[in-house]
Parts: sequence; C-alpha cells; structure tokens
Amino acid sequence: MKLDAYIDAFLDFVYPRNIYCLLCNESIQKTEKYSLCKSCREKVNFIGDNTCEKCGKPLGDFYISKACPDCIKAKHYFTKGFSCVEYNDPMKELVHKLKYKNQRYVAYHMAEMMIDKLKKQKIDAVDYIIPVPMYKKKEKRRGFNQAYLLSKYIGKAMDWKVEKNNLIKIKDTTPQNQLTKDERKDNLKNVFIIQVKEQFQDQNILLVDDVYTTGNTTDACSKEIKKSSPKSIWVISFATGKNI
Ligand SMILES: [Zn+2]
Ligand SMILES: [Zn+2]
Repeated sequence: MKLDAYIDAFLDFVYPRNIYCLLCNESIQKTEKYSLCKSCREKVNFIGDNTCEKCGKPLGDFYISKACPDCIKAKHYFTKGFSCVEYNDPMKELVHKLKYKNQRYVAYHMAEMMIDKLKKQKIDAVDYIIPVPMYKKKEKRRGFNQAYLLSKYIGKAMDWKVEKNNLIKIKDTTPQNQLTKDERKDNLKNVFIIQVKEQFQDQNILLVDDVYTTGNTTDACSKEIKKSSPKSIWVISFATGKNI
C-alpha cells in the first residue's frame, strides 16, 4: 500500500462519523441522515425528478421543455448527468469545508448522497469510476483531489473500480469561475488526456465531480474519454446550480 493509501485508511478510521452536524457542528444523533441536524437538513434542496433529461439540473415548476436552456443550445459529450443537491449557500459552505479547510470527512457524507442518487437512478453497471482529474502540482498543494475522495467512497459502497491514473490533467488552468463564458471552453482545450485508450473501450464509465456548473469540465473530460469508445459515460456531481 502506498503512503497515500495509509493516510486515507487512517483518516477514515479516526474521523468521527455522524456525531456532529456537518454544517453547524452541533452534536447529533447517530441516526441522522448524512450527518446533518434536522434544521440544517432543511436548508438542503435535494434535487427531485423534475430535471433536465441530459445534464440533470433541476428545472422550474413552470418550465416546459425537458432539457435546460444550456442543453438546448449546446451538445454534451456525456450520456447523462445527475446531481444530488442545489448549490445554494449552505452547500457552498460544505464544499468549501472540504476543498479549502481540509475537512476530508465531509466527502464521505457527500458521497453518501451521491450513492443514494445513483441507486435511485438505477445506475448499477459501472465498470470504471473516473474522478475529474486535477493538475498534479495543484493536487499536491491541496493534499488530495476531492473528486477522487468522492469516487473512492462511491466505489467502495457500490463495488466499482476507481481509475484515477488513466485520464490525467496535463496543464494548470485558470479556475472556470474566473473566466467569461467564451473563455471557459478554450481554457480546457487539450487539457485532459487519456493515456491507455483501450482500457475504456466498451466500458460503462461514471465520471465524478463535486460541482457541475456549465458542464465545460465534464464535457472536456467526456470528449477525451469518448476517444476510447466507451459504452456510456454517466456523470454524477454532488451539487449543481439552478438556471431555470
Ligand atoms: Zn446543523
Ligand atoms: Zn441540461
């Protein structure tokens, strides 16, 4: 086992699960779902069935089309996407705790929600989970790739393989949210590379990310994965914005 794996296993062992609320840190009953107290759980907008048929973003009650405006305009390279919760302020705080405050145990509970979503959507034949890769130096600086942590827990629960070394990010890029819409696509051109194309041929792929916004990142990854002719590319993200 590599050192990283040891550290991971150790952290899994020592982190308290379901003792404190993820958001407000109040102590909770061990039975509280997703390690959230009742009042914090009410702040979470879980995404139901009224979603874009392509990307999985929630649609407004009075919106008529089956696809969101983004998906009507632009085609995606993945088969279909799903997200668990709306990316509102409390969920932004949660993702922030994971990414910038090194509270890795948050990923475990985010993954719980993603696992429930996958089960509900009957996604059950995945050959490879692929975490959206981070540029190596950036991953070193942060100490972990949050998409990989999520993938690891999903893989463990569903008994699916996680492949983090085949699709890699070869350039450091400006964060997408600091760019205009037009700049975003160019920013990710030729950034993700598959090293062994045969590995994903005829396979069912599940691409994992923490937040789905415009879909540019998952699209750039999917475009590259498609070069190896997979059977399907599902995308699961923890959170997504509502644009309708
Ligand atoms: Zn709470
Ligand atoms: Zn959509």
